[in-house]
Amino acid sequence: MKKDVVIIGGGASGIFSALSISSDKSVCILDNVPLGKKLLVTGNGRANLTNKDLNTRFYNRDLSNFFDRFNTQDTIKTFKDLGIVTYADEEGRIYPITNTASSVYEMLNYKLESLDNVEHIRKIAKSVSLCEYGYKIELEDDVIECKVCIVACGGNGKLQLPNNVRINEFTPALCSLQTTENNGLNGIRVNPAHVSLLVDDIMEYSEIGEILFKDNGISGIVIMNISNHLPSQFQNAKLSIDLLPNYPHNDLKSILKQIIQNNKHLLVSQFLNGLIHKALASKILSKAKVKFNDKATTLTDTKINQIVNIIKNYTLDITGRLNNNQIYMGGVPLEDLNENLEHKNYPNLYFVGEFTEVIGHCGGYNLQWAFTSGSIAGKAINNKKD
Ligand SMILES: Cc1cc2nc3c(=O)[nH]c(=O)nc-3n(C[C@H](O)[C@H](O)[C@H](O)COP(=O)(O)OP(=O)(O)OC[C@H]3O[C@@H](n4cnc5c(N)ncnc54)[C@H](O)[C@@H]3O)c2cc1C
Repeated sequence: MKKDVVIIGGGASGIFSALSISSDKSVCILDNVPLGKKLLVTGNGRANLTNKDLNTRFYNRDLSNFFDRFNTQDTIKTFKDLGIVTYADEEGRIYPITNTASSVYEMLNYKLESLDNVEHIRKIAKSVSLCEYGYKIELEDDVIECKVCIVACGGNGKLQLPNNVRINEFTPALCSLQTTENNGLNGIRVNPAHVSLLVDDIMEYSEIGEILFKDNGISGIVIMNISNHLPSQFQNAKLSIDLLPNYPHNDLKSILKQIIQNNKHLLVSQFLNGLIHKALASKILSKAKVKFNDKATTLTDTKINQIVNIIKNYTLDITGRLNNNQIYMGGVPLEDLNENLEHKNYPNLYFVGEFTEVIGHCGGYNLQWAFTSGSIAGKAINNKKD
């Protein structure tokens, strides 16, 4: 079989590639699952499609050159043209007005089914190699030749590519983190917490928001964003958490002293309970090595200072990543691709979506990259001379 374009992977980026390619080109999308199936689980089933604040600082690479050509407004317009109306929540996250990802999935599929030039073959691609016609895509029991190939098979996609296509190893990202010392804290939320990531004692990234303790680690959007900044291999990585970021050190110290002064009946084990969850307070007091059953009035100024320091810098060693990742970091480096995401050593071979090394924060940024990269590659193909 011969096609003008083969798109390997029918997720968000593959679909936006297909929608951008002109109708005079024959297109085949290879995927063994229904097109756009993964969209159904995005945004907790609501599909957080993009974000009003499309700043490149939410990504690991400067993408301004790409967003100049396809950005939030283009995504909203594309969906509007497909009959999908969107809205932004208070934090700028954009969702379909139906608040259901299935409506996006269905409308995209109605459109794709209506395109005479686009065919979905429910098969996995095994390899891509050069051939006289352009590229040869090997399937389990078949071969397709094409002039142009777009690799859109997502993070951790398994595909044999021509030699010299560099692929950085895929590592889970946007995930919860495994940490030490969390026993008994499962389910405790702190909001806001100011969390900083330190790798080899150098501050890599920090963010304020809600965190959720788990028995074996820590979760929440802030932590997931932080996981994007954790190197794939690390020896010495820590989270430093300010559990009460709205209270500067001295204010907090005065508050603690006042609690003790006004409540001389309180024990050391009790006096923090109106400020911090009991189980977490108990961890803080253990770190401060105080006697739980003494009266709080026995705490010295130095000890109170120490307790405040621990609250403002509650430290956890990161021991790994928990496997609830939404994306993978790694993939084809952007420097190996031109401004249209075509490989510099392999003309007519494009890489889009999560298979490139681009990763974004929570908030619609990863789908936006899938839509942007897919559209740019698709349009570039239209503008190319045979
Ligand atoms: C639970 C969850 C929730 C998420 N929520 C959001 C959100 O709300 N907002 C947001 O911006 N991002 C979200 N993401 C991330 C987002 O889904 C991805 O960044 C995005 O889907 C990437 O698009 P893609 O097209 O590159 O890859 P994918 O959507 O992963 O699509 C790749 C496709 O390629 C197919 N494939 C793989 N290998 C082959 C092969 N060899 N041959 C043929 N086909 C192949 C796969 O079956 C798949 O359908 C979420 C992710 C998860 C897991």
